[in-house]
Amino acid sequence: RAKSEGKSTYHFFEASLDEEARRRRQLELDLGQAVREGHFELHFQPLYSMTQQRLKGFEALIRWNHPERGRISPADFIPLAEETGLIIPIGEWVIRQACAQAASWPGDISVAVNISPRQFSSPVLAQTIVQSLAAAGLPAHRLELEITESIFIGNVERTLGMLHGLRTLGVRIALDDFGTGYSSLSYLRSFPFDKLKIDQSFVRDLGNDASAHAIIRAITTLAAALGIETLAEGVELEATMDALRREGCDLVQGYLISRPVPAGAVAALVQQMNGGGALRRASA
Ligand code: C2E
Ligand code: MG
Ligand code: MG
Ligand code: MG
Repeated sequence: RAKSEGKSTYHFFEASLDEEARRRRQLELDLGQAVREGHFELHFQPLYSMTQQRLKGFEALIRWNHPERGRISPADFIPLAEETGLIIPIGEWVIRQACAQAASWPGDISVAVNISPRQFSSPVLAQTIVQSLAAAGLPAHRLELEITESIFIGNVERTLGMLHGLRTLGVRIALDDFGTGYSSLSYLRSFPFDKLKIDQSFVRDLGNDASAHAIIRAITTLAAALGIETLAEGVELEATMDALRREGCDLVQGYLISRPVPAGAVAALVQQMNGGGALRRASA
């Protein structure tokens, strides 16, 4: 009995593997089609300065509107895009589109773009950035690249060379999901990042966890000493924002300020949060 059970389990396992492989293959084909037909959209989520009490920029977050399956989360297709190499054309579209959108925003508002590891190591990235900035007429300092610690896996020297190369273009560089990778501190020594984005996992625990407070405080103290800005991700509660302010964090991003919004809603959000130029002067 045990033997036949084992056998049927094996068949079941094999069948579900086939099923899984088929689903993956279909998603891959769909992703290729989405690239060719332009089924992507960018949403933008505000980055809010607690010290200046105003929006400083927006993070561009990709959305895939699948013709049959509806919206698919980037968490579900970016890894596949990385594996298949489709991240290169997708990432290029994101950079172009983000620059084009940001060019229509007020001059003090920047745009942040996520760069995945394979895209980062692509030799065409710098060229794509230069061309996108020029086509949009966007000054380089208004573009921020969000990279994760995983780009340091492998050839660290080469990674540092790439980072310095991008920096000479005049763009800003943020370290995303900070605290979730390995030996983060050594990277801080080897490259002058403009911003650390403290991962949501630390922020979420702030309410009831003394060690989360200690970690956030350590990060903001270290970053301040190094002249790096800090931003906390995933801020959903007023109490969390108050705690972050007390711990010396500079910026917040999260549903408390706003969910990611379509491009068409950005101007109204800036107006609402930062006011018009005349209004701002009148109240200052
Ligand atoms: P990320 O770069 O860390 O982006 C932050 C994620 O947190 C976004 O999820 C955002 O919608 C979500 N978020 C923001 N505030 C809150 C909050 O208060 N609570 C909670 N629970 N979540 C919040 P999203 O848009 O689903 O993106 C997930 C990840 O997919 C991103 O993480 C990023 O790694 C990747 N991604 C998104 N767009 C792009 C892109 O254009 N290119 C690349 N390479 N990756 C992208
Ligand atoms: Mg990000
Ligand atoms: Mg992040
Ligand atoms: Mg994240």
